Amino acid sequence: MTLSVDLDLSPATARERLARVDAAAYAATRNHLQGAVSGLSPWIVHGALSLREALAAVHARTPLPLDHRWVQELAWRGFFQHRLMREPDTVWHSRHEGPLPEGEYAAGVCAAEGQAGVAPGPAQARSDAAVDACPKEGATTLAPDPGATLRAEPRGRQASLLAPDVARHAASPAPSLSPPGSRRQPDLLPRRLLDVPADVREARTGLAVIDQAVRTLATTGWLHNHARLWLASYLVHGRRVHWRAGADWMLSWLMDGDVGPNHGSWQWVAGTGSHKPYLFNADNVARFAPADWQVPGSVLDTGYDVHEARARGGKPPLPAGRGGEAVAEPMVSHTPPASTVQANWGPDQHGRRVWLAHPWALGDPPPGFDAVVALWPLEAWAHIAWRAERWAAVAQRLKALTPWQWVGPAESLVERLAGAHTSGFDHPGLPEPLRALLDRPADSLFPELDRPDAPVASSFSAYWRLGTRRLRQVDELLAGA
Ligand SMILES: Cc1cc2nc3c(=O)[nH]c(=O)nc-3n(C[C@H](O)[C@H](O)[C@H](O)COP(=O)(O)OP(=O)(O)OC[C@H]3O[C@@H](n4cnc5c(N)ncnc54)[C@H](O)[C@@H]3O)c2cc1C
Repeated sequence: MTLSVDLDLSPATARERLARVDAAAYAATRNHLQGAVSGLSPWIVHGALSLREALAAVHARTPLPLDHRWVQELAWRGFFQHRLMREPDTVWHSRHEGPLPEGEYAAGVCAAEGQAGVAPGPAQARSDAAVDACPKEGATTLAPDPGATLRAEPRGRQASLLAPDVARHAASPAPSLSPPGSRRQPDLLPRRLLDVPADVREARTGLAVIDQAVRTLATTGWLHNHARLWLASYLVHGRRVHWRAGADWMLSWLMDGDVGPNHGSWQWVAGTGSHKPYLFNADNVARFAPADWQVPGSVLDTGYDVHEARARGGKPPLPAGRGGEAVAEPMVSHTPPASTVQANWGPDQHGRRVWLAHPWALGDPPPGFDAVVALWPLEAWAHIAWRAERWAAVAQRLKALTPWQWVGPAESLVERLAGAHTSGFDHPGLPEPLRALLDRPADSLFPELDRPDAPVASSFSAYWRLGTRRLRQVDELLAGA
């Protein structure tokens, strides 16, 4: 299964894809890179397909037991969104310490530039001066400044193409730095922890499994779950790059990048959101990936004890690769490119019934509204970046829904809606003032668990247990609101 960056994010396309999901093949093969997975994540992430519709359609064709893999994987998304809604702060920071203290993960930057020998093990103190001395050429850095643009060092197409768009949007008031849905300002990590080594970003590690994953990510904007796991594990435990750096980077290249599942999964891999690090080796790749992903005889072809020792600091991080042709890195930005998203305010909406579409609610508007307005609240991207193709796909869909594209800080969008009767779907990635205008609950598999007064499920198993505790079959799940 592959996707292309050229996506039509309409519900109609999602339904065509949904009609091809084969429940039995999915359950049997979903862990294999060539398995029968759906590729529906961009539509689910952008609200063009709800979790309950994704469940109902497959169940209508092939009645599913409650514990079927399809139900459980949709529930994983529900769980990550539940956590994002109920504990928004925890998504940006390590929930607890991983196998090594946080500061140790800067070592990946030095190793990337061929200085693996410099990187000390955990017993040796790593001074700030030593870390800052790591070569920075080509590093892409999330800048902790109010403009929140993804800065590239002045090299290649990324920097030159970012600048004009960013400059034009910068004319609007700068968004606040509070992460969407959060009531607390996040402490941005030091700059050095937000770097992903250049040889990884350019698919030049010399390790087929990693280079294939990065190439696939760069060219298609999508990766199989297993490949995401391998790439994350290699970066965090192999190269000792902080999970947050990897998570921000991967999200910016994905067409389905989403803070809940993405940052949640990176923490799970890192061992800061689970109780042990996720590790893999060449045998694991041999079992689940095609021939051109294999890495026999490489540094990954060892027992789990070696990988475990490295993850826990008993061995130095893996060295950077030196070979191969670099893949073209996608262009990414923290603000909608002005060449793709043009503001068009249209008539005053005072007294009218207005349906609010937004980048996480691309579904068809229900009947009975006088107007549809598409909202682009700039704060929503203060901490995340999107690739150019994703801005384009979302913009194309929102333009198909309405000519009225409102781009600006949330407060200014709310002001313009004063006196209008608004309705729309909530999403935890939106800034607070807008969420108050969205009367319909965010997408959820178990809506009763996402009510503000329901207990927070601290683990997937708790979420699943609570969600299914009164159910015996999928029909009952679908009947509940
Ligand atoms: C490091 C890492 C980063 C990830 N980043 C994202 C992300 O940014 N956005 C995202 O939607 N998913 C993310 N995932 C979860 C998962 O990899 C993708 O949802 C899945 O690969 C999408 O492909 P698919 O639509 O073919 O999934 P299918 O296997 O066909 O599953 C159907 C749907 O169920 C949901 N789902 C399936 N597996 C998972 C899972 N493990 N966690 C959460 N939801 C799941 C998705 O909505 C998916 O579209 C990440 C996983 C890892 C390990």
